[in-house]
Amino acid sequence: MCGVFGIYGHEEAANLTYLGLHALQHRGQESGGIVTSDGQRLRSHRSMGLVADTFTQPVLEQLPGTLAIGHVRYSTAGGSHLKNAQPLQVSFVGGQLAVAHNGNFVDAEATRRGLEADGAIFQSDSDTENIIHHIARSKAPTLEAKVIEALRRTSGAFSVLFLSDTQLIGARDPIGFRPLVLGRLKEAYVLASETPALDLIEAEFIREIEPGELVVIDANGLRSSFPFEKAPPGRCVFELVYFARPDSQLFGTSVFQVRKKLGAQLASEQPVEADVVIAVPDSGVPAAIGYAEAAKLPYDVGLIRSHYVGRTFIEPQQSIRHFGVKLKLAPVRSTLEGKRVVVVDDSIVRGTTSRKIVKMLKDAGAREVHLRISSPPTSWPCYYGIDTPSRKELIAASHTVDEIARYVTADSLAYLSVQGLVTAAGDASGRSFCAACFTGKYPTPLVTA
Ligand code: AMP
Repeated sequence: MCGVFGIYGHEEAANLTYLGLHALQHRGQESGGIVTSDGQRLRSHRSMGLVADTFTQPVLEQLPGTLAIGHVRYSTAGGSHLKNAQPLQVSFVGGQLAVAHNGNFVDAEATRRGLEADGAIFQSDSDTENIIHHIARSKAPTLEAKVIEALRRTSGAFSVLFLSDTQLIGARDPIGFRPLVLGRLKEAYVLASETPALDLIEAEFIREIEPGELVVIDANGLRSSFPFEKAPPGRCVFELVYFARPDSQLFGTSVFQVRKKLGAQLASEQPVEADVVIAVPDSGVPAAIGYAEAAKLPYDVGLIRSHYVGRTFIEPQQSIRHFGVKLKLAPVRSTLEGKRVVVVDDSIVRGTTSRKIVKMLKDAGAREVHLRISSPPTSWPCYYGIDTPSRKELIAASHTVDEIARYVTADSLAYLSVQGLVTAAGDASGRSFCAACFTGKYPTPLVTA
């Protein structure tokens, strides 16, 4: 997962990109970067760490220009190193170019081996660099045509931005896995992963970039085309379940409202006798509110979240992740003591978080703990940009719900059904979503190394 932001035609391009990245920080916390253009030269700053720590005033002052793109990253392909921080920036025969990519190419390894065999020298281990090599080798006459040619050669997920000295280009793969939105701030155009980035800088949300759409923004304004082979849509349903910010307008809907509906649906599918409904903050909050409303049970705060640690999962090392739950969450005894508690979370991946949370709630006096998950069992890895690389790490891939309940020591455990998920997410047929992490039905062939 990653977040991207781009702006064309604003005197404060770097400052606004900084703010935009701030609003997208939930999509990646390992590294951040901004590249600007003053019409002649590209300048960049990339660093490990959080946007607020990286982009100080002196750094931003070194990034002049009215065009910019930025990126926040957490690694799904390639390690957590500065060399993989984006935007990637290069000089090639067509001039200077920077790229910021959200998504994953399923054919990245094979493509890279082919390029290397052909003499290409790679500077990172990120799959994004493949596109740059394809662009540099393209004989097409314009940057736009080179970008199209390069993207046509990839397979998988991309919501991607390109910056040259005079152009901002944005593209979304034909399946539309990852989001990308278009906004306007007076005369300037803005592209961003999610609408909260527009809200923060007070830009107007115009529309989503459509699956398969490419937009070129330059001195002639904005032009849109659909240059990629058409494919059935497959928007990532996990963005709605967990990844996107709850205040996002995503895939034509409000993420917060969808999450409440997921909770309400879960209550109707998986009711339980209880005294109180609590959430695992922050990600479980909207679904817990929806569950409580539908179940006609009181909603209360049973866990407090520290805002000084990142998302547990985002820390790449198991040792840190393990410790992280306690660092992040603390129980509220007065809500829990002697109660039969329904605790709602959005997903179980490895099961470590849930196990610790159930123990924490029981140690704080909860009489019963009923865990309810506002998505189906996560049984299949994502190859399109969510960090769930191997099947053996997914507890639901090799355990039944009863076995998981015993492992997490809950008095009961229940998940939302796939049908309930896609219905609450707004498409009962499920056909417009990629739900491969729950169903194993991948919308593209998988070329795994
Ligand atoms: P686990 O301990 O591995 O079961 O982690 C489950 C927790 O991680 C849940 O509370 C989710 O909110 C969160 N989560 C699920 N998927 C992801 C992901 N891909 N990246 C970061 N956090 C996640």
